[in-house]
Amino acid sequence: MKVMKFGGSSVKDSALICRVGDIVKASVEQSDIAVVLSAMKGITDQLIDLTLLAEKGDQSYHDLVRMLKDRKARAVQELIPGDKGNTTRDALFTMLDELEGMLHGIELVKECSPRSHDLAVSFGERMSCTLFADYLCSSGIEAMMIDARQMIRTDDNHKNAEVYFNRTYPLIKEKLADVKGIPVITGFIASTEEGVTTTLGRNGSDFTASIVAAAEDAEAVEIWTDVDGVLSADPRVVDGTFVIDEISIQEAMELSYFGAEVIHPYTMLPVVEKDIPIRIKNTLNPSAPGTLIARNVKRHEHAITGIASIADAAIINVEGGGMLGMPGVASRVFSALAKAKVNIIMISQASSEHSICVVIRQAESGRALSALKEELEEEVKTRRIQNFDLKENLEIIAVIGENMRGTPGISGKLFKSLGDAGVNVLVIAQGSSERNISFVVSKNDRNKALRVVHKAFL
Ligand code: ASP
Ligand code: MG
Repeated sequence: MKVMKFGGSSVKDSALICRVGDIVKASVEQSDIAVVLSAMKGITDQLIDLTLLAEKGDQSYHDLVRMLKDRKARAVQELIPGDKGNTTRDALFTMLDELEGMLHGIELVKECSPRSHDLAVSFGERMSCTLFADYLCSSGIEAMMIDARQMIRTDDNHKNAEVYFNRTYPLIKEKLADVKGIPVITGFIASTEEGVTTTLGRNGSDFTASIVAAAEDAEAVEIWTDVDGVLSADPRVVDGTFVIDEISIQEAMELSYFGAEVIHPYTMLPVVEKDIPIRIKNTLNPSAPGTLIARNVKRHEHAITGIASIADAAIINVEGGGMLGMPGVASRVFSALAKAKVNIIMISQASSEHSICVVIRQAESGRALSALKEELEEEVKTRRIQNFDLKENLEIIAVIGENMRGTPGISGKLFKSLGDAGVNVLVIAQGSSERNISFVVSKNDRNKALRVVHKAFL
């Protein structure tokens, strides 16, 4: 079996849904397939907006639900003729009525809990899958909408739930064994053991696809999107970027954690276990080969594979002469941040032990700073720690590639190119995997840094 996942931009309107239909028809002649779909582009955001309006008691949510009905009715009219179309439209309208009822409930209690949030956004994927499965059926291909909430089990950490793989895999197998024709599975959504709707985090449909692939021991996963594959850098900033034809799973993880945006970072997890290759494909350009992500890929001639970046970063530098040789400071810094639910993106401490520097998201910097001040109050009083230095408006840049391992001179060349361009580097980290060199620059230097590094290596 091959699992084919189509993102929101691939099912944005009826013209694109037709294209997806053609791609699916061509594939089904070659192998068994399962389809995973996102919500139509923009729908998840709209559903979130609706919950916020309802929470505020803003009545305009009623109009917006009506607009959603119009959008769906139009798509149905363009895709499914006759009585069959009416049935599909009715099914979609029933869902939207249910959503409106739910929004009314949110309005009454003036609160959208994370649990209600997940149920509200689940309508997006349920509607796109209902529409697409019905479309396939009406064009003569047997298909069935499958609600992933019946198969994917998670904890109750709403908006970003943890998957229970051992429980999930057998359920997927069992459920899909009964499906006649092509299963059209809702991405992104799941449920707890008690049947409460959860979601796998924004852009989680990729992850759904790889979970299904792992459960079915699929031979491949295809992630269909609106670009030709994983690019060597952000083409909006850098000239001369190119599609990377093959990358290793580790490189793909590094790149996706660093915001390369094509693929959700968790996607690689289940397929790593089962050694299933992933291919990124473009719905708008299906004949392009795309990017292959696999355990063993052919080596390329460049010293690095790609460059990615994370915007809106901040650093906190914990400084003090009294930290030298004092065990436990790092641990307390990290636990204080963990307790305050601050995610640490990068860490650096030089061997003088005079300071520990953590890189975090700017939005979390206030919280981080107060957590640290509280935890280390005693050390500040006794002057072991002199200062918490916060710097904002920064950008993390990561240079990624398997070829860097054991190759001398890469960091020399990297930092020379930055130095020659007058870019100041604030923090540097390289793990011993040598697949990633990350450094922090001021936001103003970001574009220049990306360009000179791309030019130097790629
Ligand atoms: N519809 C969800 C989102 O927009 C999941 C996905 O698109 O993968 O985040
Ligand atoms: Mg997406």
